[in-house]
Amino acid sequence: MKTHKFLLSEKDIPTQWYNIMADMPNKPLPPLHPGTKEPIGPEDLAPLFPMELIKQEVSEERYIDIPEEVQDAYRLWRPSPLHRAYNFEKMLDTPAKIYFKYEGGSPSGSHKPNTAIAQAYYNKMEGVERITTETGAGQWGSALSFACQYFGLECEVYMVKISYDQKPYRKVLMNTWGAKVYASPSDRTEAGRAILAKNPDSPGSLGIAISEAIERAVMDEKTKYSLGSVLNHVLMHQTVVGQEAVKQMEMAGDMPDIVVAPFGGGSNFAGLTFPFLKMNLTEGRNIRFIASEPASCPKLTRGVFKYDFGDTIGMTPLLPMYTLGHNFVPAPIHAGGLRYHGAGVIVSQLLKDKLIEARAHQQLECFDAGVKFAKAEGILPAPEATHAIATVVDEALKAREEGKSKVILMNLCGHGHFDLSAYQAYFEGQLSDHEMSENEINQLIAAIDTPEAV
Ligand SMILES: *Cc1c(COP(=O)(O)O)cnc(C)c1O
Repeated sequence: MKTHKFLLSEKDIPTQWYNIMADMPNKPLPPLHPGTKEPIGPEDLAPLFPMELIKQEVSEERYIDIPEEVQDAYRLWRPSPLHRAYNFEKMLDTPAKIYFKYEGGSPSGSHKPNTAIAQAYYNKMEGVERITTETGAGQWGSALSFACQYFGLECEVYMVKISYDQKPYRKVLMNTWGAKVYASPSDRTEAGRAILAKNPDSPGSLGIAISEAIERAVMDEKTKYSLGSVLNHVLMHQTVVGQEAVKQMEMAGDMPDIVVAPFGGGSNFAGLTFPFLKMNLTEGRNIRFIASEPASCPKLTRGVFKYDFGDTIGMTPLLPMYTLGHNFVPAPIHAGGLRYHGAGVIVSQLLKDKLIEARAHQQLECFDAGVKFAKAEGILPAPEATHAIATVVDEALKAREEGKSKVILMNLCGHGHFDLSAYQAYFEGQLSDHEMSENEINQLIAAIDTPEAV
């Protein structure tokens, strides 16, 4: 009998998060104040985040205890299953063994509640009453809405206007969990009103929505702000995924040769890979790690390592990271997520130090891989996740050519049930490939007038 799923019990849910800062050979450079360009201290972040999360952001402790209340919440959907993709292996006619960790069984359908629950908890503990955030397609907004509902906090989501109009069902999900969702730019903030005055029909952008959410948080003492990726504490919260996967690979009697995850800001990639990367850093293992990004937003494969802003307007601290420049606007033809111009500082440092790799894929190749995967394994992947599947296909076919067996582990970080319009566009032939020209990239990069990260 084949074992398709490797299942842990509730007592196997990790009780600590793993902080890779403790084991990195080179620590990331400090974030800089957007005005003074000097390293920022905890007090600079205090209006935005609860102190416990600020401490985690700068911590170099190897393990941080997960509070009981957060573990309780995790038990609503964790541990998540690890699958062996026998049918996909057969379809690809590969000698490679393919495993995937499935995070789509969470309440909002992705890995994001792993950090949303933790962030809502620390806010609640420090007397915060309301959390603001931005959301693009709605994955992060839904995860935070659920987490705020769970801990009895108000949630205010600024949703990029074009998504608000085009993706109404994510909004309904957020409303179901009690969140207030506003199309951004809105008339609720100075940032929003300024944009609307210039252009009443502005489609909005993630950068504008971030500015609105931050402004609301700074204005009110009982309101704080929350981010769903990029930051160190967010990446750390996701390591419950990889810690479970280490145990499950042991159950399967295999160790991965390659671990693959899609890459937006780095949180699901970090979540799955860091507990395995620890083995390279501390036990001399030789596992490869590949971050899969879209060719239309190639910050890891074609961006520069530089200090840059997290938003468009330049309100956030400057972070040392791989970036396409904060003025980057993704091609409208791109249907999936993963459109952020920058990357988390930890993952950026690891890439710079060649401890991880990155690969870019074209859009059609990703949807093709995603549809193949759905046919073989039954699960419709989130468009973001199809980027990792495309990398797995590459590696599985290479294994066949080389006649070598190898073990590949992938993060299936979410399902695509709210992304059916993207699949529809793919089936109707309305999507196309898009690759940035050398010229476009050079222009964007030349326009980054921020300090060098050296
Ligand atoms: C948000 C999201 C991503 C991208 O964010 P990361 O922080 O890089 O993980 C990828 N996949 C899914 C399903 C998401 O919701």
